[in-house]
Amino acid sequence: MYQHLSTQGEVINLPVGKIVCVGLNYHDHVEEMGSKLNDDAVLFMKPNTALVDLCQPFDIPTQYGDCHNEAEIAILIQAPLTLATESDCEAAIWGYGIGLDLTLREVQKQLKALGRPWERAKAFDGSAPLSPFIPKAEIENPNHLTFSLSVNDQLRQQGNSLLMIRPIIKLLSIISEQFTLLPGDVVFTGTPAGVAALNPNDKLSLTLEQYTFTSQVTNV
Ligand code: ZN
Repeated sequence: MYQHLSTQGEVINLPVGKIVCVGLNYHDHVEEMGSKLNDDAVLFMKPNTALVDLCQPFDIPTQYGDCHNEAEIAILIQAPLTLATESDCEAAIWGYGIGLDLTLREVQKQLKALGRPWERAKAFDGSAPLSPFIPKAEIENPNHLTFSLSVNDQLRQQGNSLLMIRPIIKLLSIISEQFTLLPGDVVFTGTPAGVAALNPNDKLSLTLEQYTFTSQVTNV
């Protein structure tokens, strides 16, 4: 059973809530997808059944075409946010982690073409492997967080929150205009370029600031 963990190895005393995700938050990923930016942020959700511990081997679906990695900075929320100011948002952060917004890319393309919602491509069980969280006191500047994903020792994604189209605090404020964030909810902040298919047995290494988290796709 997934629980929020801290990088000190402790269970965080918050419920396991929903995940609110933002799409198209880095220009290089917008380009690789051939997408167009709009005035509004692209927001979607995953249920809490999407969460699994990133540091344990995890399954990916293999019967619906490519399942892509999207490495993203994740924010753990510790206080309710509705129509929140940026200072409320700052105070409501418990800490920072790194997650994978696993995406069935071919399914998503079909859904986009049909004008249908994306849940089948993005909200399936286990679609959000998530690391332990770094307490926010350890983070000097949320607008300069470095992160990366390597697959089988090859660097595949590299990001810095500096390059976000909508920075973290602004993003939380925007989300809170549409959806109340509750203690234990998680926000996924978008992926940089480098999305590609994962395969059974792939070995993953993710970094966020000075932390490294290793994992593996199970052999199904
Ligand atoms: Zn994503």
